[in-house]
Amino acid sequence: MKEVTEPDKQHSTHNALRQITIEQKRWNLQGFSISGLSTYFQISELDLCVDMGECPMSALSLNHVLLTHSHGDHSRCLMRHNSLRRMMQNPTQAVYYIPAPVYDLAVDLIRAETLFEGVAQERFYLPRLECVKAGERFALAYRKDLEVLPFNVKHSIAAYGYTILCKKKKLKKEYTGCGREEIISMKKSGVEIECEVREPIASFMGDCLGESLWEERHIWDSPTVVCECTFLDEDEVSMARKKGHTHIEHIAQTLSRVGSSMACQNIILTHFSMKYSKKHVLSVVNKIIPEEFKERVRVFL
Ligand SMILES: [Zn+2]
Ligand SMILES: [Zn+2]
Repeated sequence: MKEVTEPDKQHSTHNALRQITIEQKRWNLQGFSISGLSTYFQISELDLCVDMGECPMSALSLNHVLLTHSHGDHSRCLMRHNSLRRMMQNPTQAVYYIPAPVYDLAVDLIRAETLFEGVAQERFYLPRLECVKAGERFALAYRKDLEVLPFNVKHSIAAYGYTILCKKKKLKKEYTGCGREEIISMKKSGVEIECEVREPIASFMGDCLGESLWEERHIWDSPTVVCECTFLDEDEVSMARKKGHTHIEHIAQTLSRVGSSMACQNIILTHFSMKYSKKHVLSVVNKIIPEEFKERVRVFL
């Protein structure tokens, strides 16, 4: 039988402006995510937001926003972020990365929203939007050390997941045995001893069917994977499919398939259905996630 959520607990778990913080070694994930209500993530170390279902003040200093898809609970406050920054006279133009399938619609929506607020047509100008395509990696506008790879995920509408990569210089293989002096002298004489490498930092799945976790299994090379886990109960597997969301059984199956030797050390479960209490979520996660992954799994509640 499903547990009935007490009103006071519900208020606390379902207050979209009450932010959760998950601390990790290199960066922290801050924000909120409950299905249908709101989803937004902020990573200040990376100057990055993913989705903008709400726009708390803490998001205003961040210059890059990735949108996973156009459902209102993920996209509603995209332009609020822009207008609050302008109101506060932030001199930097934030950059909004919009999936190609909804780019034109986003432009129409932003124009309509601005005119609706009483701005004259001739005074309207677009904020800095970038149309991004699945499979086409791009560098963040103000963080040239960071790149993003968008990829398609299966949801009820067009939706992207994103892998964030860090660009680094690395000594070429053929020079790894050389001593310090030798390397310095080669560098001085202009020998190209380094090559560029990209290391994944995190993957965000956005909203998707559980099968995207296997189809896009490159995500498990990221040290952190943030994935949705909307449905939990045994009788909701077909419901999850119908609505284009992930059931916890899919996560458990995928983890077993990928195996515990995968690089991913942090799996952050988000976007739980509104109907579950925190207690229920924790007890199901504890029951369903295979033992060898339990240490790596955290719930964003
Ligand atoms: Zn959603
Ligand atoms: Zn959605």
